Amino acid sequence: MSKIPPKPWPTGLADPVEPLVCRVLAPNPSPYTFTGTQTYVVGEASGPDCAVIDPGPDEAPHIDAILAAVGKRTIVAIMCTHTHRDHSPAAAPLAARTGASIVGCAPLVLQVDGPRSDEAFDTTYEPDRVLEDGEQMCGTGWTLTAVATPGHTSNHLCFALKESGSLFTGDHVMGWSTSVVIPPDGDMGDYMTSLEKLQARDDKVYHSAHGAAITKPRQLVRGMIGHRRQREKQILRLMGERARTAADFVPDMYKGLDERLVGAARMSVSAHLLDLGKRGLAQCDDEVWKLC
Ligand SMILES: [Zn+2]
Repeated sequence: MSKIPPKPWPTGLADPVEPLVCRVLAPNPSPYTFTGTQTYVVGEASGPDCAVIDPGPDEAPHIDAILAAVGKRTIVAIMCTHTHRDHSPAAAPLAARTGASIVGCAPLVLQVDGPRSDEAFDTTYEPDRVLEDGEQMCGTGWTLTAVATPGHTSNHLCFALKESGSLFTGDHVMGWSTSVVIPPDGDMGDYMTSLEKLQARDDKVYHSAHGAAITKPRQLVRGMIGHRRQREKQILRLMGERARTAADFVPDMYKGLDERLVGAARMSVSAHLLDLGKRGLAQCDDEVWKLC
């Protein structure tokens, strides 16, 4: 996990990150969002149009800051990578103020409701058009292609900018921390497949929703895949010692863990266990997991 940078953070400013892209940091820092959600405006600064990626939380100062970064350009599309509440709630008010279409990830259909679902998911999200894997949105001098990357959430998309070779990775791969995969909507098997999908691409740089730009993307993704495989091996070894509940793995796997992160660690273990179960390597009986 990277260290939180010293304040002041560039909240509310249009921060140019490459010729076709500027970044606007939302005022929502937290243990889950780092310095806040980063909204990206894609298009030539003096061009006629642009796209807005991950408009962020529905907070008027942030929407004003996005509109200031957009300037005189027409917003062709408001594009969301996924529908966690720090990413998509500003889509509707931004569309209402500009007439732009909301294009990108699908609305989420939760198979199981739960407290985490209520808290984390934006159930108000209503796209005008859902992009399937490989579908494109373009404007003057920019082309964005959807890359389906389920795992962090089942509806997660990345967007590839053809003209520069950059990839907007949302929360799939972040510049400050590993992504959380929370069942039931988050799926560890899908997440690993989506990491492997990125590893097979040759994107030059990743712009994620939280944290700095990732300039050695393949190296980072390789490390993330290795980290998750290590965790999986550890779980199989501990299960081999004795059957246990998801919570029972945490003290052995996360030594000296901050009390506030125990719940997140347990959910991450659960995501691995469910994946091992699907693959026929583990089975669960009354919340107790054992090897098959
Ligand atoms: Zn998220």
